[in-house]
Amino acid sequence: MAFEVPPLPYDYSALEPHIDEQTMRFHHDKHHQAYVDNANKALDGTEWADNPVESVLASLDAMPEGIRAAVRNNAGGHANHSLFWEIMSPDGGGEPSGDLGAAIEDTFDSFDELKKMVNDAGVGRFGSGWTWLIHDGTGLAVVSTPNQDSPLMNDDVPLLGIDVWEHAYYLKYQNRRPDYLEAWWNVVNWDAVAENYAAAVGKPAARAS
Ligand code: MN
Repeated sequence: MAFEVPPLPYDYSALEPHIDEQTMRFHHDKHHQAYVDNANKALDGTEWADNPVESVLASLDAMPEGIRAAVRNNAGGHANHSLFWEIMSPDGGGEPSGDLGAAIEDTFDSFDELKKMVNDAGVGRFGSGWTWLIHDGTGLAVVSTPNQDSPLMNDDVPLLGIDVWEHAYYLKYQNRRPDYLEAWWNVVNWDAVAENYAAAVGKPAARAS
């Protein structure tokens, strides 16, 4: 089945005041839809057309050069945004607890230090891209990726990712990417991130908060 934009799991205005309604409408309905449409167009008629996005991203090296960049950018955009909507919530914010909280303290010393590393990686990403908390198969790490590259392309599991393309924040924050990143943590959905973590380490999901 061709890719589809998943419905937003909350109202467009639900993340106000941190992320404004108009940004969410454009971001979800227009930008994500464009990634889906362009990925479907590139994959149409190929052997990968009906594959899950994770498997498509793992197959980039095998694809003909004529579609590889389009698939990388647009299937990457589809995977990244599908995760992004899920790891935000109007009931979000606070600090991680449970197994995820313990792993964050073990790896980064504190949640504040993790937040600083993720924000710094997002501010430091020149141009467009993402800043991530990933599980790399052995433990947690913070990375950033350019454009719509996904950690899945490096065999890493994305747990939390913040979109630092201007379309994610420009209407409300203009050029103030650091302010957007700081505000973003008020909507982080730790339950969803904990589920991603549990799946990455192969344990049943424990609610994080
Ligand atoms: Mn985006």
